[in-house]
Amino acid sequence: MSDEEREDEMSTIEQDRTTDTLAADRPLSALDRCDSCGAQAYVRAVLGGSELLFCAHHANKHEAKLKPIAEAWHDESHKLNA
Ligand SMILES: [Zn+2]
Repeated sequence: MSDEEREDEMSTIEQDRTTDTLAADRPLSALDRCDSCGAQAYVRAVLGGSELLFCAHHANKHEAKLKPIAEAWHDESHKLNA
């Protein structure tokens, strides 16, 4: 097997693993709602294999506690200032 072929195989495996996860980097939409207050969600945290959605306000409130233990922390709150 040539080096090129081996690299191709490796990138395929990596991609498969990414799509197998909870799609933590899937962009948030207007349909995603904060689990605490129902406002539009701008942050997705993955904790213990399940997703939590937070508006910017509640993301701020919970970030210090949850971010260190979250498997993923997807923050789109910068969109608020765009
Ligand atoms: Zn909220």
